[in-house]
Amino acid sequence: MKSQHHTIKDLAMPVQYVKGIGPKRANVLAEHGIKTVRDLIYYFPYDYLDLSKVEKVGNLLASMDSDRWITTMGTIRSFELIGRQPRQRLVVVLGDETGTIQLVFFQSVQYFKKAFTLGETIAVSGKVTSFKNCFQIVHPSIDRLSSGGEDDEDSQGLHTGGIVPKYGSSAELRDVNLHVKGFRRIIKSALDDFIDVFEEHLPKNLLERNKFLPIKLALRSIHYPESFEILSKAQHRLKFDELFIMQLLLALRRKSVKSEMPGISFNVKSMLARQLVDSLPFKLTKSQVNVIKEIAEDMESRKPMNRLLQGDVGSGKTIVALLAMLVAVDNGYQAALMAPTEILAEQHYKTLKNFLQDMPVNIRLLIGGQRSKLRREILEDINQGSSQIIVGTHALIQENVKFTKLGFVVIDEQHRFGVAQRVALREKGINLQNGSLNPDILVMTATPIPRTLSLTLYGDLDVSVINEMPLNRKPIKTILRTSSQVDKVYTFVREQVHGGRQVYIVYPLIDESEKMDLKAATESYEKLKTEIFSDLKLGLLHGRMSSIEKDEVMSAFKSGVIKILVATTVIEVGIDIPNASMMVIEHAERFGLAQLHQLRGRVGRGAAQSYCILIAPDWIEKIVSKAITLPTIDDDIVEKQKAIRRLQTIVETVDGFKIAEIDLELRGPGDFFGTRQSGLPQLQLANLMTDGDILALARQEAFQLVEIDPYLRLSEHEPLRSYYEERMKESLTLLQGG
Ligand code: ADP
Ligand code: MG
Repeated sequence: MKSQHHTIKDLAMPVQYVKGIGPKRANVLAEHGIKTVRDLIYYFPYDYLDLSKVEKVGNLLASMDSDRWITTMGTIRSFELIGRQPRQRLVVVLGDETGTIQLVFFQSVQYFKKAFTLGETIAVSGKVTSFKNCFQIVHPSIDRLSSGGEDDEDSQGLHTGGIVPKYGSSAELRDVNLHVKGFRRIIKSALDDFIDVFEEHLPKNLLERNKFLPIKLALRSIHYPESFEILSKAQHRLKFDELFIMQLLLALRRKSVKSEMPGISFNVKSMLARQLVDSLPFKLTKSQVNVIKEIAEDMESRKPMNRLLQGDVGSGKTIVALLAMLVAVDNGYQAALMAPTEILAEQHYKTLKNFLQDMPVNIRLLIGGQRSKLRREILEDINQGSSQIIVGTHALIQENVKFTKLGFVVIDEQHRFGVAQRVALREKGINLQNGSLNPDILVMTATPIPRTLSLTLYGDLDVSVINEMPLNRKPIKTILRTSSQVDKVYTFVREQVHGGRQVYIVYPLIDESEKMDLKAATESYEKLKTEIFSDLKLGLLHGRMSSIEKDEVMSAFKSGVIKILVATTVIEVGIDIPNASMMVIEHAERFGLAQLHQLRGRVGRGAAQSYCILIAPDWIEKIVSKAITLPTIDDDIVEKQKAIRRLQTIVETVDGFKIAEIDLELRGPGDFFGTRQSGLPQLQLANLMTDGDILALARQEAFQLVEIDPYLRLSEHEPLRSYYEERMKESLTLLQGG
């Protein structure tokens, strides 16, 4: 009746248009991201209370002392503070038509006393116990249902044994009376007034093929489901929506890159590449050869390449990238390799130079902090085209860097860069003066990404995987030691050095700005140098050093002069020194799983047996035994338990994919490097860890749809198009040009 006045456009109206929301509530809601009527209806419950499972108070006697967790419901008949601090307690009497029960609170009694009102209806859950002939629930979990009174809208339906939504709230929201109950009321009124104006945005055939609930029913049922069966269908449909829109974005982006932008068709029969392969001291693995074939096909094609090369640390990605770059060079183009840190860029530069020593290829390094004269020279070379391969950091995408003819781009450790940087480097290849086109792009990552996540983070890329290690490798032995065993570790270090090997000792410096950490690392270095290994040559490496200093230390380590390199996490990626056979990680409990895996990957690169020693504080042993006996919500213990899980994982496996899965599980997908900055929409319902099936379906449907209608121009896709634009407003600006 009311909805006749509204149209679909009204969903974009400020949330104040919903009955029961004034300017004050509207402000607080807006601060929580709920700005429009649509936002409010899309504010989904985080959980539900199943009133059909509620037991009558009179029946609770049967559950007494049974250790069973039960839920009951009633109105508040009385409440009273008994005794004095510190033994004071609050006793609340809850009753229904069959009897009464006591709820007893020992903690936060003042808070609970204020929280209740006489006559209010609440549901409580807990274990029923007996005390002096009374039966009671101590500190039950509470769901507030209605405040009582005749005209209370909430109480309708409560007695029918339905499913009641629970909404997340916050202190600010509670200040304007938007606790669970308040939310129920405004969302109910938004649904009543506006649900009819929603239009189905999914194409009819897609909806039918998958037997999805129509949007109106799905939205109504996610808030007020008539059964758990329909609730799960509503959740399924709405999760699909979230993932489908995300995949549609990726599909459209990929389609536009492929079809609109002409790319370069390289002649892949390259003499230079042939020459390099023949000169290698090793045979490429089967996996490397396959990947090279995939890349060659892309390079030959006229469509621009956008390919992700995944391969665990040490699997030999660099040589693959170099071969592809040589093809570009042979075709008269420049190739660029962008790395996330200066150390890594320099390392790559030296590696490539070394591979190319007998070949007529000019290679240059461009990083920040080079002297201005040198820098001018390099920029000039890039601009004139006399440099053919250019290795660098972010410096490569600065405005004053102008390539003559950039045909091939390699981005290493992509997860450290955003989509924007990938796009920026690609655009360096477009040169209207000489008609240069879109360069081919190869993105490399050593951080194994669980499949569900790579489908979203890199969902617009084709994927190649190197899934075998070069044959000459021995598996690294990983050992966990506590701080009190550190002397033994140092003895082991000494043995390695006497055997002709080299050792890394790493200290945590997770955030470069952590002064304390830097101090700890340098102090430990001094101590190691003067007291423990005073007879050996040590070096120190951290991110605050100038590139010249870093360079000197790295060269001395590479040439074997420095035996033990004490470092912070700057060495995490890319460093390649096969003679280093031991990695000692101090305070290993502070590192993330991906970091530990990367650090360990710095050893095991030569023929010798390699070791990774993790050193953690003594508490790990205590917590390990405690963890078994004590399920806890104490934050500190939870964090410690997670740390132990990380250390155990690293000890138990070298499989990067397995490690990544556990990492995702421990951290949650939002935190898992970079998803937040990736420009993809945030997910409210769908969970990348558990909804892999829905994701796969969404991806298939989205890519199929874009195949048929690459610009969403068909009239039957009109509702989808406007829904998509509405939902993508924020993400699109981030991804423009992508
Ligand atoms: P990542 O994939 O971590 O970048 P690299 O490309 O740095 O690995 O390779 C690690 C080491 O293995 C390098 O020293 C490289 O020269 C060497 N390497 C690469 N491919 C092979 C192979 N097929 N057989 C033996 N050694 C190889
Ligand atoms: Mg590498």
